Amino acid sequence: MSADLIRRDAADLAAALGAGEVSSVEVTRAHLDRIAAVDGDADGGVHAFLHVAADSALARAAEIDAARGRGEELGPLAGVPIGVKDVLTTIGQPTTCGSRMLEGWVPPYDATVVRRLHEAGLVVLGKTNMDEFAMGSTTEHSAFGPTRNPWDAERIPGGSGGGSAAALAAFEAPLTVGSDTGGSIRQPAALTGTVGVKPTYGGVSRYGLVALASSLDQAGPCARTVLDTALLHAVIGGHDPLDSTSIPAPAPDVVAAARAGATGDLTGVRVGIVRELSGEGYEAGVLQRFEESVAILREAGAEVVEVSLPNIVHALAAYYLILPSECSSNLAKFDGMRYGLRVVPEGDGVTAEQVMRATRAAGFGDEAKRRIILGTYALSAGYYDAYYGSAQKVRTLVQRDFAAAFGQVDVLVSPTAPTVAYRLGEKLDDPLAMYAGDVATIPANLAGLPGMSLPCGLSDGLPVGLQILAPQQADDRLYRVGAAVETRLVERWGGAFLDSVPALPVQDRTDGAREAATA
Ligand code: GLN
Repeated sequence: MSADLIRRDAADLAAALGAGEVSSVEVTRAHLDRIAAVDGDADGGVHAFLHVAADSALARAAEIDAARGRGEELGPLAGVPIGVKDVLTTIGQPTTCGSRMLEGWVPPYDATVVRRLHEAGLVVLGKTNMDEFAMGSTTEHSAFGPTRNPWDAERIPGGSGGGSAAALAAFEAPLTVGSDTGGSIRQPAALTGTVGVKPTYGGVSRYGLVALASSLDQAGPCARTVLDTALLHAVIGGHDPLDSTSIPAPAPDVVAAARAGATGDLTGVRVGIVRELSGEGYEAGVLQRFEESVAILREAGAEVVEVSLPNIVHALAAYYLILPSECSSNLAKFDGMRYGLRVVPEGDGVTAEQVMRATRAAGFGDEAKRRIILGTYALSAGYYDAYYGSAQKVRTLVQRDFAAAFGQVDVLVSPTAPTVAYRLGEKLDDPLAMYAGDVATIPANLAGLPGMSLPCGLSDGLPVGLQILAPQQADDRLYRVGAAVETRLVERWGGAFLDSVPALPVQDRTDGAREAATA
């Protein structure tokens, strides 16, 4: 029973909950049991979660069941469990951002995304692992140890939201929330065979999303199917007066778009293949799956053309100046004075500056320090124009390229990442090689565009992602096109993509405390 429950997607679970076939307590318990069985810790297991809130999840599930029993009107995902990336603030649950700097910090407020989850009756299982302050592409920069890829425990799940993606692929949660500043939702989705959407910049509130790079950050939905991703997007999206960058307009109807796309018909849709993102530097197996996806788009009736965005070859370099610049400023608040870690050096007459220095030296990991130093340099007097200023000019050129391309086509497609999941540790000592893996995801962040990654097959037994990009505020197009591709692929495979995930190394963790808490 519980094995069956964890494999069902959110739409399916929601229908079963609505029909009274199963209770939210049962569904929640099944997922908590799965987490207890496979999540383990940094030394073994998937380690998708940094914090599991078993008590509050079961209590919330019981409330939802009771409300349903009273005949109350509930949202479409009420009673369905969800994991939340540890970059979103949560009342009553720690929010660490994968950093020692915030270890043990329990925020006094909920992020708007989290509040909306609660209001819609979703059951928050806990907080998912991530690279420190969302900087990284593997989740290895988490101060609390890496997440493992459920397809192969020796491999990375992608990053920075590796926890949110691996939790889905390991059937620990049917839904998760992520954040995407340069690909942290889409790239882990690609590497774990799941679906992830970076909404239009401003499409989902960032109130309570701990800032990495404010001109790029975007929270978004992750799931195992396109429809589930849309259902979650509809819950968390839309204007929020608490976020001044939130778009004051109704969000596009992504659920209707996903349902329309599920017919598999894309007649009249114009699709552009991004020439610069589908050739050199991409693994052969990745390109093969991509070409097959393009053939599927044609079969579905879409008109497919190749388009060129000449300036996006400079996007990666521009991003790795803009992001460190903004993050060096955003992370300046972690100074040991107001909240989080505080390290006071020994001795008398210690100054505030010495406390800040000691706190930041102890609290930040190497990658965070690298980017703070790079960003501080790029913003410093005398270098500002040459580095930050030039990067902003490139950003404008990239935006213009996209605007021109979207004059010709409705959506753009590319592989999501140039490679499949690589081995843990493989690129840890070579930051540039790791950064290069973000080449296809970064342009959308620079231009504020919505983007989706969905699974399009395997290469060497590991998942490959197809990326779809749309103009700002046309997120619905991602869902229509993504659902059509998914429908046709599932037909071809004869089942859902994740049916082929190999059995995970199940670690038996007889944790008395959790047993007691869930009894
Ligand atoms: N991998 C990218 C980086 O390291 C993306 C990060 C993100 O989207 N949060 O910056």
